[in-house]
Amino acid sequence: MSVPEDHPRAESLKVREKIIEGMHNSIVAEAGLIAHGRGEAFDYIIGEKTPDFAFKQQEAAVALLLLAEKPVISVNGNVAALCSKETVELAELVGASIEINLFYRKAEREKAIEEVLKEAGDIEILGIDPTYHTYISELSHLRRIVDKRGIFSADVVMVPLEDGDRTMALRKMGKNVISIDLNPLSRTALWSNITIVNNLIRAFPEMIEIAKRLRGKDNIVLKKILADFNNFNSLKETLSEISKGLNKLAKGNLKDPTKKLK
Ligand code: ATP
Repeated sequence: MSVPEDHPRAESLKVREKIIEGMHNSIVAEAGLIAHGRGEAFDYIIGEKTPDFAFKQQEAAVALLLLAEKPVISVNGNVAALCSKETVELAELVGASIEINLFYRKAEREKAIEEVLKEAGDIEILGIDPTYHTYISELSHLRRIVDKRGIFSADVVMVPLEDGDRTMALRKMGKNVISIDLNPLSRTALWSNITIVNNLIRAFPEMIEIAKRLRGKDNIVLKKILADFNNFNSLKETLSEISKGLNKLAKGNLKDPTKKLK
């Protein structure tokens, strides 16, 4: 469906259309639509723009990716539908591998996601060649599968839109986990080393700019950024800023659009 440009929520609707299109192209799982809706609700609450706390989280995340020996960016259907080009660009800038890692694993979906990533850049995509499959013992069923060359041996794993169980499993394996999750209360958010509470459609391009700025910096500078960052404090700051914003609305900033009718 084409979105009318003059629609007051045109931007949000265009993103929603990409997710729906992704589902029709076998990239996005049905549950991905529900996950997206939950994200939209939280995005509304943070004002659909990047708050200051998210800029700090993104900077810490890029510093960690640049310091990593073997960083991997894990891609699922929603990420591929919304940010395939940016995923490839960020991976190239920070020297990370890309691994397709799906909650609802299906050969057809893996293939469709691989294609969309390959269109975005000439980069090797891990996670789909069974020769390299191995298992995370903490998880059951198909969700256990990871690539030996990727997540299994990585020191830093970035998981935009992950489920809490897998984040917990990765932490128990000793990985440093960076997540992007608009819900600051999800298990993923609480279990990550660095949680970016922002919409990935803004987080990725902003991280690309941060990576360009930090890439040439000395490791001492990057380590200082990390030393100044504490995820639990960052999540508490996030919640505090969100509640301040809502309080301001409650105390008068919220304008009554129906007033003109009276
Ligand atoms: P958990 O298992 O971590 O407690 P969950 O079960 O709520 O969380 P899922 O439904 O697997 O998690 O994942 C959806 C998460 O992704 C939600 O928290 C949602 O807010 C977030 N999300 C969805 N779309 C976006 C987006 N575009 N950018 C950032 N976060 C998003």
